[in-house]
Amino acid sequence: MAATTAGHKAELTRLDREIGDGDHGENLARGFHAVLAKLAGTEPATPGAVLQLVATTLISTVGGASGPLLGTAFLRAGSSLGGATEIDGPMVATALEAARDGVVARGKAEPGDKTMVDALAPAAAAARAAADGGADLVGVLAAASEAATAGAAATSPLQARKGRASYLGERSVGHVDPGARSTAFLLESLARRAA
Ligand code: ADP
Ligand code: MG
Ligand code: MG
Repeated sequence: MAATTAGHKAELTRLDREIGDGDHGENLARGFHAVLAKLAGTEPATPGAVLQLVATTLISTVGGASGPLLGTAFLRAGSSLGGATEIDGPMVATALEAARDGVVARGKAEPGDKTMVDALAPAAAAARAAADGGADLVGVLAAASEAATAGAAATSPLQARKGRASYLGERSVGHVDPGARSTAFLLESLARRAA
């Protein structure tokens, strides 16, 4: 995730310059770089503990609207795993559903509002469908990544109803939401690493 956000920093910043304040790439690259630094100094005992460390680090370093929202996503995903030491496909689906519910509870955006929810919600739904169909962890993550990428692209024709982009009204139409795009990048990096 750190490599992905660093590699796509310019693209995410460009998207945020079009309908926001142009800091999304910088915000995420800074946050995930801080995560790497934190992980270098500690060895969390469980996947859930890793996600909790990611959450607290993002909350204290990303800032803006996306920091607390992504932090909540990772916090809820981590809690959903409990103390498990191994993760399977259904657990990934449950974690993504928990992340989605946390972001919606915190940011009050619904699907179609042109936010990261438009990538996260289809990702969670696709992950659940894949898990129900018997997919393993790699298959569930691949399904989530694909759905998030499609969901992010589909934000372009939407008018923003939450966050900074909503101040633009109709002028937000015709641009991909930066938070939806970054969410897709994050899930894509997870899927690629798992495969
Ligand atoms: P800021 O807008 O404070 O500069 P960022 O640029 O880091 O923060 O993040 C902007 C992204 O945050 C948006 O593209 C959108 O996806 C997401 N976002 C903003 N408000 C909300 C919300 N209420 N619910 C979900 N996501 C949101
Ligand atoms: Mg911004
Ligand atoms: Mg900002």
